Amino acid sequence: MTYTPSIGLEVHVQLKTRTKMFCGCSTAYGAPPNTQVCPVCLGYPGAMPVMNGDAVRLTVVSGLMLGCEIGASSKFDRKSYFYPDMPKNYQITQYDKPLCLGGGLEIELDGQTKRIHLTRIHLEEDVGKSTHHAACSSVDFNRAGVPLMEIVTEPDMASADEAFAFLLALKQTLLYAGVSACNLEEGNLRCDVNVSVRPEGTDRLGTKAEIKNMNTFKGVHAALLHEIERQGALLASGGRVAQQTLRWNPDLGETLPMRGKEDAHDYRYFSEPDLLPVALDQTQIEAWRADLPERPADRRARLVQTYGLPVYDAGVLTADRDVADFFEGVAQRCGNGKAASNWIMTDVLRLLGESGRTLAQCALTPEILADLITLVERRTINQPTAKGLLPELYEKGGSPAGLVAARGLGQVGGTDEIGRLVDQAMEANPKTVQDFLAGKQAAAQALVGQVMKLSRGKADPQLAGQLVAEKLAARKGREQQRDAQ
Ligand SMILES: [Zn+2]
Repeated sequence: MTYTPSIGLEVHVQLKTRTKMFCGCSTAYGAPPNTQVCPVCLGYPGAMPVMNGDAVRLTVVSGLMLGCEIGASSKFDRKSYFYPDMPKNYQITQYDKPLCLGGGLEIELDGQTKRIHLTRIHLEEDVGKSTHHAACSSVDFNRAGVPLMEIVTEPDMASADEAFAFLLALKQTLLYAGVSACNLEEGNLRCDVNVSVRPEGTDRLGTKAEIKNMNTFKGVHAALLHEIERQGALLASGGRVAQQTLRWNPDLGETLPMRGKEDAHDYRYFSEPDLLPVALDQTQIEAWRADLPERPADRRARLVQTYGLPVYDAGVLTADRDVADFFEGVAQRCGNGKAASNWIMTDVLRLLGESGRTLAQCALTPEILADLITLVERRTINQPTAKGLLPELYEKGGSPAGLVAARGLGQVGGTDEIGRLVDQAMEANPKTVQDFLAGKQAAAQALVGQVMKLSRGKADPQLAGQLVAEKLAARKGREQQRDAQ
């Protein structure tokens, strides 16, 4: 029997705020342990929380980007729980009145588009970070109280690949919206994964297991492949899936039980008495909506439409908002979208990858690259010369036309001049000419190479190729005539 998986995700996103959710402590990453703390985020009795308005804004902006309905009134609640890394023993979160409801996100997989529906988005505070050593454990509270946005999906995903595609699309949308740095290494994005399987063709969802605290997308994918297989095998052998919380062990490649449902907790949610409800002004929401950036999927479609790009190119260029901005800057200035796309996809992205830098960290601007492309289009320089200049422009910036003039890199011009170089090349390489006349087509290419060499790389390779072909054809004609006489 075949089983169909149903996967839902709860994604925790650290918002890009300067200060924590309910106090003024810094959220900067990497400070020495317990140096960014105060009575509020350490959970001292009687300390009063103050809501971070920017965290509310970023959550609403995320909701608007994802097509959610924004709750007119929202509130915070206490979730009672014993957290070893949260001394006040409750977390301030949102229970029945979250900031955002509904919404969804399209994923594309194997040329198919599928909408993954969202249940809700709410805002809460993070807890501290425990580290377990051989003989003791330590807690760092720098992370305690950092604003976390939790995005909860419906169980709409039917494979590990779909969950992976959703996480990528979500990360891209959040980066476009500028609400989070989405840095996985720094724990900005973590998720809990709910998964169940049911016999193919049936509707009722199976018993789900929850895999907690995943912090890489690859980990989610691997854990899901394993867990779907495990649950399917269990059902096929007549067993039952237990509702339980699991932990993924990447070294063993297995999901292991953390706790069973029997010790499920009653969180005793109640409204946080130290915070007022959140009343959002409709005018404010509309102002935020008007300021939203273009969504990645809309931008892909527009790049195809406006610049005549292949869908593949549009996908690569819009993966990163800065790269898409850079592309549009180049394409608009040089007027050739496909050339701009080719240069960025092959050369610029390679240079960025090799140097481990972002566009903001290199000297190349859209203007510089557009000017370089224009020099090639006008045949002032040839493509190899332009490619040779790029690494220097990438490192130091500068004017492509200036470099070409200063170094005499201009293309060796017209038909006459290149024609003379072709004659020279044929004279110097009689053997190659004979090879061609004997039927070896590749010999023509060798002669073009000689012409390029004689011009010190500055000839127009296309024109050189054309003239070599013409002159060889003429020589062949003369030989045939002579043989006939
Ligand atoms: Zn604090």
